[in-house]
Amino acid sequence: VIPDLDVMLKAAHEAVSLAARITRAVQRDPQRGHRLTKSDDSPVTIADFAAQAVIADRLSARLGRVTLVAEESARYLRDPAHAAALAACVEATAPVWPGVRAEDLLGAIDVGTTSIPLDASGEPTRSFWTLDPIDGTKGFIRGHQYSLCLAYVHEGVPVVAALACPNLSADVQRPYEDPDPVGLTFLAHAQGPVWVTACDDRHGRLDVLERAHTPAGGPIRLVGSYTAAHNNESTVNRLVRRLEETGVRVQRPQRLDSQVKYAVVARGQADVFLRTPRSAAYRENIWDHAAGSLIARRAGCLATDVLGKDLDFSRGVTLEDNQGIVCGPAGPHGVILGGLAALTTV
Ligand code: AMP
Ligand code: MG
Repeated sequence: VIPDLDVMLKAAHEAVSLAARITRAVQRDPQRGHRLTKSDDSPVTIADFAAQAVIADRLSARLGRVTLVAEESARYLRDPAHAAALAACVEATAPVWPGVRAEDLLGAIDVGTTSIPLDASGEPTRSFWTLDPIDGTKGFIRGHQYSLCLAYVHEGVPVVAALACPNLSADVQRPYEDPDPVGLTFLAHAQGPVWVTACDDRHGRLDVLERAHTPAGGPIRLVGSYTAAHNNESTVNRLVRRLEETGVRVQRPQRLDSQVKYAVVARGQADVFLRTPRSAAYRENIWDHAAGSLIARRAGCLATDVLGKDLDFSRGVTLEDNQGIVCGPAGPHGVILGGLAALTTV
């Protein structure tokens, strides 16, 4: 059964809008935005947990029982040693979830599972929501860009996406490092355009996103991770040199955290989001790409890996069959893929 895409998108929009109110408040209050460290050493903040709780709760309230594959689990907050963090989460969540108690919050976070649950016949579920409540936690902590990324994957293919970018300006001239007071949310499903709306407005006007045209004759404008460790910079350098030898001008990657990169490519502010794998073994998480890649694709871009393979969301919690990301309109996407193919190793 094809689910009702409009109903799902509306629920996703409401959920990320409410959660973004929390992340915005926490980011602006350095006292509350304090960084925690999970057992795998990755950073997390109380806002990651609060956002996941609100999104899971809102989706369940609107849609009934949902299957949600999400980055966070409540294990950290259930540890009695972390009671202060739990109390801070409850306090941060209360403005959008009046009367929320610690048990409600923990239960809502754990609506999400970090692996793909099994269905009634014991097979991995093929259709589910996937969430990164704060993609770009490092950017969030730094006061830079981050995004709330929610997608519905239907039989291995993202078909609904809500990507809230609380610090991204409607004004493309505004530097990424200068957080916008309003922010933008990008919405799309498999049978429609991309809509864009004010991040804090869940009832406001939706505008159809018009992709800005790449300036003719200009260089290919790349965008990549802010965190150097998420990208193989030496491959990027070799690629840029190689293309320049063949007369193709390439602007070195602008550095930007999170799936906001897909949004800026979707709106034509950059031409190609490039992520070159640093190790052949690293696999991307589905929640780091499901929402952003659908937004970019519905805006007319291609989203593949560095070998030109489509992103395959049917292989578990990671993109098992893909390495790295190349996302952009067909022209520059093809040039970058061609350049990568000409390098002996990516
Ligand atoms: P970005 O801001 O594009 O660098 O994306 C942030 C995401 O990168 C985080 O959510 C991590 O899941 C993911 N990540 C962590 N380590 C790596 C790595 N070695 N290579 C690529 N991505 C990574
Ligand atoms: Mg992430």
